Parts: sequence; C-alpha cells; structure tokens
Amino acid sequence: MTHKTSILIVEDEKNICDFISATLSSQGYKTTVVHNGADALSVATSQCPDLILLDLGLPDMDGTEIIKQIRTWASIPIIVISARSQEQEKVNALDLGADDYLTKPIGTSELMARIRTALRHSNKLNTDALLYKRPYQAKDLVIDFDKHLVTLAGKEIHLTQIEFKIIALLAKNSGKVMTYDTIIENICPTRTTTTAFSA
Ligand code: CA
Repeated sequence: MTHKTSILIVEDEKNICDFISATLSSQGYKTTVVHNGADALSVATSQCPDLILLDLGLPDMDGTEIIKQIRTWASIPIIVISARSQEQEKVNALDLGADDYLTKPIGTSELMARIRTALRHSNKLNTDALLYKRPYQAKDLVIDFDKHLVTLAGKEIHLTQIEFKIIALLAKNSGKVMTYDTIIENICPTRTTTTAFSA
C-alpha cells in the first residue's frame, strides 16, 4: 500500500483552487480544498495533512492567523501563496512559521519544486532544539522545551528524563506517524534496536 502525500489547499478563489488541485492530483498528490479559515483550521486538525498551501486573503480571517494557530501544535509545512508581494508581508508570514512564500501568479513547475523542497525538509525528524524555541501547546498541555517543564492545566507534571525526552520528541513531530524503533533511536541513540528481533 502506498501512502499518498496529502495537501490541504486553502484558497477562496475557485479558479485558482481548481488549477492547483488538478495540477497536484496529476502529480499523484491527494488534495483537500477549503475556501475559508475556519474550515482550514478544522481540516488541518482532523486530517493532519502532509503540507498546507495557504492563501492569506480569506473571507473570514487573515491567513497569518491560521499560521499562528497551527504552529501552536504542529510543524506541518505551510507554503503561503499570496497576491501580497510586499517584503514585510513575506517576512511576517515566515516569522510566524510559514516555510515558504510564493507570490501570485505562480508557475506550475516552481510550485511543484517548492512543495518537494518543503516535504523533504519536513521528512527529517524535528529533533533540532533551535527550531522549537516556543513552548508546545495542545489544549491544557504545555511543554516548555527550554525549561524541561511539562504542565497540564497549569499544574506541573513530574517526569523522568526519559519520559520527558519521549513526550518532547512526540510533540516536536506531532502529526507524524512514529515507529517504536524511531522513538528508541532518538531517545537512546547508543542503544541498538535489534533486540526486538533476536531469536
Ligand atoms: Ca484570496
């Protein structure tokens, strides 16, 4: 069984949606299209797509708000596709956590190349602490990576060092399927994982 890479397209202009969706489908991607910010947030949460293409000018909210909200819980790559071409708009979106910024009109080949690049980067496990200066938050759970502090509804949870490493690794890679071996390799790099298969 092959896993099709899923891409969420957030765009309120129908002809652009149709064009991008058709192009991506022809390249073997699975696409979901939404036309406003509320749907974008709900689909991003429920389906955890592999990548998000995001327009900034949406009818119900600004796309930058979507970047902000998603970045509180997931590292899904986000590529902004916007008509706004001012440098400050780009800087703002990138600083909020967008991975790339394309200005409309976009060329098909360039879009495909940018998507491949963003996916390549996201497929590396996110173990780089520098990437995660901000605390991770999911509902009442907050993980402060710098302080090695985990709180649930404001109350500190006491964890062993190994437990903290596991929860931090899972949080940094939220939305990804992690195998037992991957977790062990990252938590205990010196330990070999072959024991599980020894006769
Ligand atoms: Ca728009």
